[in-house]
Amino acid sequence: MTSKSGWRSNMNSIWSTIRTVATSEKVVYLTFDDGPDPVVTPLLLQILESLQCKASFFVVADQVQKNPEILQLVRKGGHAIGTHSWDHSYRNFFRADKVLRNWICRAHDDLTLRLNESPIGFRSPAGVITPPLRRVLRGLRIPLIHWNTRFFDTTFGFNERKGKKAASRLRAGDILLLHDGNCRDHEKFLAGVQSLVTEGQALGFRFDALPKTIRHPSTDL
Ligand SMILES: [Zn+2]
Repeated sequence: MTSKSGWRSNMNSIWSTIRTVATSEKVVYLTFDDGPDPVVTPLLLQILESLQCKASFFVVADQVQKNPEILQLVRKGGHAIGTHSWDHSYRNFFRADKVLRNWICRAHDDLTLRLNESPIGFRSPAGVITPPLRRVLRGLRIPLIHWNTRFFDTTFGFNERKGKKAASRLRAGDILLLHDGNCRDHEKFLAGVQSLVTEGQALGFRFDALPKTIRHPSTDL
């Protein structure tokens, strides 16, 4: 725990979940969950493009059904895309493996068809990790990609001040969690992202999309 606005953890050894990227470069990875959102996501994409940075979007499949053209904007922007489940419903974590597997596959397969390639991995709603989830993902060879820094932005919001503070705490390989869906105040949120990237770049950091080769260590053969 480093602060109210930034939270880090190092749980890799317990769950073998991807939370950071091993790198010798000053590169960090912004990730955005819960979209695509018809208002916030296009504006966010414009900001990312103007700052010449790439990010990763963990999309909810039922939001993709409502906003398929926004997903294609994300893809055309050169960002990485992963799944964040079909409907963001937690109840599937407590059902039989078969149900859990179908829930994950439905979103994964839908996105694969739309993108013409596999999504980079799965991020679970609310960060829930259970032994059945790990078992199912391992069987499907889908990496579980979480984060090491979060801001609770859907609860407390995100803004320029928080973005600047976050930039001062960046470390190479960080995966940062923010949300383009369920955004509290999108103007402040976007100003926060802009501030984080601008300040981070001034400190020499590059903001990149998660690599397509990212893999859960235990699923590598
Ligand atoms: Zn979420």
